[in-house]
Amino acid sequence: MIDLHSHTTASDGSCIPEDLIRQAVDLGLEALAITDHDTLDGYDEALPFAKAAGLDLVCGIELSTKFRGRTVHLLGYFLQQMPTQDFRDWLRIGQESRRDRNRRLVERLQSLGVDITLAEVQAIGRTQTGRPHFARIMLQKGYVSSLQQAFDEFLDCSAIGYVERQEAKIEEGIQRILDAGGLPSLAHPVRVAENEVRGKHEEMITAMAELGLRAVEVYHSDHGPREVARYRGIAQRLQLEMTGGSDFHGDVKPKIRLGHGRDGNLNIPRTVLDRLRQVRVPAGVGHSFGLS
Ligand SMILES: [Zn+2]
Ligand SMILES: [Zn+2]
Repeated sequence: MIDLHSHTTASDGSCIPEDLIRQAVDLGLEALAITDHDTLDGYDEALPFAKAAGLDLVCGIELSTKFRGRTVHLLGYFLQQMPTQDFRDWLRIGQESRRDRNRRLVERLQSLGVDITLAEVQAIGRTQTGRPHFARIMLQKGYVSSLQQAFDEFLDCSAIGYVERQEAKIEEGIQRILDAGGLPSLAHPVRVAENEVRGKHEEMITAMAELGLRAVEVYHSDHGPREVARYRGIAQRLQLEMTGGSDFHGDVKPKIRLGHGRDGNLNIPRTVLDRLRQVRVPAGVGHSFGLS
């Protein structure tokens, strides 16, 4: 059994990298990928522990990107080479833009009479502070009676407190991953298309494949047998690779277990990773984005 989708405290998981490695080893996982949101820090920190424990640790990332006006998560797997320094620099610029958005969001909310500080939200969101953390503090301080209300009235893109954040388009995310020597895979496709009419999945993934997407996350805690069959079929028809993982976040999402997923719906064989390792991703092909 392997797990190619997990998060540490470097993004929004609750396990420090060392503990995540220990859990993977205790579970007998044959391989683990750390795919923190927009940062490689968790992987970097975990690597020596994985080496010491003899665990096959795969370097991964999960990027937030925009596709047709909505946020789409894009996984990147670095199977043949470590990500380039250019890619690491680009991630740091992205983190700076998130911090800048958070500063502007605090100002905007204060101007609307919501008294919260950056320190308060950063205390719970750490390096990945985002709108869900703002919502939690607003709830704690009694400005709203639910997280949903915080989004509906203040934080959603149609709400009065909304502050735009620069998010890369999916084509840039795909190309950045390819340029850095990685394999781009669409994360939990069921979430992208869940509000769409039936039959849109294949059209959507076809459009992404034309932008350079190389794989689809067929196996995921949110995918039942029907979704697995659907995305496997699409991947085969479009000649895309298949990836899979639990999306483990530790105590933050207690129903999802490392390796096993939700209610034991996952048991991803090692052959999935063996196959991915045979895919050649020529680094530096296609259009390169300059750092601006
Ligand atoms: Zn995700
Ligand atoms: Zn994830």
